[in-house]
Amino acid sequence: MKSSNLGYPRIGENREWKKALESFWAGKLTESDFLLQMEQIRLQHLQKQQDLGIDLIPVGDFTFYDQMLDMAVMFGFVPKRYDYDGGAVPLSTYFAMARGSEKAVACEMTKWFNTNYHYIVPELGEGQPTLTENKPLQAYREAKEKLGIDGKPVIVGPYTFLKLSKGYEPKQLPVLILQIVPLYVQILQELAAEGVKWVQLDEPILVTSVTKDEMKTVAYIYEQLQEAAPQLQIMLQTYFETVEYYEEVTQLPVAGIGLDFVHGLEGNLQALTAKGFPADKVLGVGLIDGRNIWRSDLSVKKKLVDTIIDCVPKDRLWLQPSSSLLHVPVTIRHEDQLNPIVKEALAFADEKLAEVQCLVESISHGQVEHFAESTTALERLNQSQERNRREIQEAAANLFTQDVRRKSTFEQRQEKQKVWNLPLLPTTTIGSFPQTLEVRQARRKWRNGEWTTEEYDQFIQKEIRKWIDIQEEIGLDVLVHGEFERTDMVEFFGEKLAGFTFTKNGWVQSYGSRCVKPPVIYGDVEFLQPMTVKETVYAQSLTEKPVKGMITGPVTILNWSFVRDDLPRSEVAFQIALALRKEVESLEAAGIKMIQVDEPALREGLPLKKSAWENYLQWAVKAFRVTTSSVEDTTQIHTHMCYCEFHDFIEAIDQLDADVISIETSRSHGELISAFQHHAYHKGIGLGVYDIHSPRVPSCEEILEVIDNGLLALEPSQFWINPDCGLKTRGMEETVRALENMVTATHLVRDRLAVKN
Ligand code: GLN
Ligand code: ZN
Repeated sequence: MKSSNLGYPRIGENREWKKALESFWAGKLTESDFLLQMEQIRLQHLQKQQDLGIDLIPVGDFTFYDQMLDMAVMFGFVPKRYDYDGGAVPLSTYFAMARGSEKAVACEMTKWFNTNYHYIVPELGEGQPTLTENKPLQAYREAKEKLGIDGKPVIVGPYTFLKLSKGYEPKQLPVLILQIVPLYVQILQELAAEGVKWVQLDEPILVTSVTKDEMKTVAYIYEQLQEAAPQLQIMLQTYFETVEYYEEVTQLPVAGIGLDFVHGLEGNLQALTAKGFPADKVLGVGLIDGRNIWRSDLSVKKKLVDTIIDCVPKDRLWLQPSSSLLHVPVTIRHEDQLNPIVKEALAFADEKLAEVQCLVESISHGQVEHFAESTTALERLNQSQERNRREIQEAAANLFTQDVRRKSTFEQRQEKQKVWNLPLLPTTTIGSFPQTLEVRQARRKWRNGEWTTEEYDQFIQKEIRKWIDIQEEIGLDVLVHGEFERTDMVEFFGEKLAGFTFTKNGWVQSYGSRCVKPPVIYGDVEFLQPMTVKETVYAQSLTEKPVKGMITGPVTILNWSFVRDDLPRSEVAFQIALALRKEVESLEAAGIKMIQVDEPALREGLPLKKSAWENYLQWAVKAFRVTTSSVEDTTQIHTHMCYCEFHDFIEAIDQLDADVISIETSRSHGELISAFQHHAYHKGIGLGVYDIHSPRVPSCEEILEVIDNGLLALEPSQFWINPDCGLKTRGMEETVRALENMVTATHLVRDRLAVKN
C-alpha cells in the first residue's frame, strides 16, 4: 500500500504566495526575485510532503495563478488580443490573460466544478495548438534535482481540458481532440524518456453527467496515449463525485484509476464491490476529505480500506485525499485562538496528509491503536453542548415534513402590496455602496480597539446618512442603508449567530491571488439577537421612501462556509434558515417591510449530477422559504442572485416565491430574454441594467437599450430597474454617475409608456 497526494495548496502557510504575486504585480519585486521566491515556496511544499513520508508526491500542481491557465499557455491557446507570436508564453502575457491589461481584457473565469475555486477558461479556436513548453517535465526535473524527489507530474486530462474550455462549437470537438492528443503524447513521451514512473491525469469531468458516446471518445483518447508511451504509468484521477460509468472508466487502458470515496463514496463503493476492479490496475482510494476541514475518524477509514481490500489486493492500493488539497487551508498549526474542542477535531492540508500516511503505515504494520485518538477527538466535539441543542435540531428536522409557504398566493399579495404606491419600473440598488478606504480604516480601528463601539457606530451612521441623501437626490425609489458595517456578507452573519467560529489563518484560494477565509459551522446554529435592525431602522428614520432590509440567505451562508459533516447539509441549512427567519421577523416588527434575502450562491450549490438537482433544489428552496414566509402579505420579500444561466433554473426561482428578484443580466441579455419567453414568470423582477464589475460609467443610451430589451420579454408592471450587483467595490463618483444615468433612462421609458397608454 502506498500514500499519495493529488495536489497541494499553493498559497503557503502565511499566504507567502499571494504576497509575492501581489508585490510583483505592484512592481515591488523584480521578475527574477519573484521567480526565486516562487521556487522557494514550491520546494518548501514538496519538502513538507517528503518529510511527511508521502510516497507519490505531486509535481506540476503548483502555479503562478491557475492550473487551467497553465494548460492553455502550454498549448499556445493565447487569444489574438494579447499579441502573442509563438514560443514560450512570457510572464506578462500569462498575467494579462489572467487579469487583463491596458490593451486586452482578461479571459473569463468560472467555478471549478462545484467548488469555490475559480479557474481561467481557456479560449480555443484561434489557430493550431502547439506545445510551447513541457511544464510537467520542468516540474519533475526541479523536484528531482533540488530535492531528490521522484515526483508524480499532475496534468489536467485532455477530455476535461477541452470540455472546460470555450471558443468552439460542439461539432468541432473531434478536430480539437485530434489536434491536442499529439501534444499530450509528446508531453508523456518526454516524461517517459526522463524516467518518470507515474503521471496523474485529472479527469474530473467523468463524474459529471457525461454520455456513453463521450465515454467512447475518452477511451479513444486514452488508447492513443497508452500506445504512444507504454512505459509510462497513467493514474487517471477523478474526484468530487461517483464516476458516471464505472465499468467503462475502469476498463480504460491506463495503469491506475483514482476514485473519490468521500464525495462519491456510496456510488463508487457500490460499483467496486458489485463489479470488481481490473486485476492489472492500481486503485487510488480518495478517502480523506479534500474539500472539508474536519479530521477523519481513522477507525472508520480503516474499515473502508478493509472493505476495499476484499476487492483489490493491498499492494495495488494507494491511499490519498479525495481531491487536491487546494480547497482546504494549509495547516492548523497556527490556530492558537480556537476552542480546543474544535481545534482537535480539525485537519487542514498538512494534517490530512499526516492522516493518509498514518493510515498507510498503521494498516501495513497492523498497528491500529493509533486510531483511537481521532475517534475520541471527534466524539468530544459531537458530545459538546454546541452540537446538542435538541430544540434547534428538532425544529430543523421537523421542516422536512412540513409545507412551508406564505400566508397568501403571490397574486393576492401583489394586490395588497399596492399600498407601497411604487411608480412603474421602480428603481433600486442591490444593497452595498462603495466601501471606501475610510470605511475599511474605520472598521480596522474599531476591531483593534482604537475606536469604541460608540465611535464606530457613529461613523457608520454618518455614512448611512450621507448615502440616504445621495439616493434621495438621485431619485431612487427604494433605498438601502449601504452595508458599511459589513466586510463580507457571510462573515457578518456568522459572527453574530451561535454555532459559527472563525479561524485565524484558514485561508483558501478563491481565484488568482485572492483568498477567502470561510466561516466554520461547527455547532447548532442559533439566532442570538437582531443583527441588522439597528442600521436599517436608522436609515429608514431618515427618509420617507422605503428602505430595504438586507440579509444573506441560508443557502449562501451554507455554501460559503466549511460545514460540520455529522449532519446532512440540508439540516444545517434549515437551522440557519430558522435563525434568519427570526431576523426577518425582527426587521418586520421594527417597521422594515421590504426585506431582501440574498442568495447568490444558491445556484452554485447545484450538484454535479443532474439527477441530484431535484433533491438539492427541494431543500435549498425550502430553506429560503423558511426564512421568508412568516411575514405579512404586505411585506415585500426581495431576493438577489448573480449569475447568468437561467434556462434550467427559472422554475426554481419561481418556487422561491419572492415578490421581487434582482438578477445579473447585463452581460447575457439574449439568453435571458429567450429563457423568459419559454417560461412565463409573473413576479417582480429586476434585471441588472449595467455591469458593476467595471469602473466604466454606462451611458443613458446603453441603459435604455438594456431596459428596452428586457421589456420585450417582461411586462412593465413586473419590471424593476437596478444595477447588476452590489456596489461595494466601486468608487463613489462613478457610482453616483451611473445611478443618475440609470434613473434618467428609467424616466424616459416611463414617459414613453405613459404616452402609449
Ligand atoms: N447585498 C449584497 C451587496 O450588495 C449582495 C452581494 C452579492 O450578490 N454577492 O453587496
Ligand atoms: Zn450579486
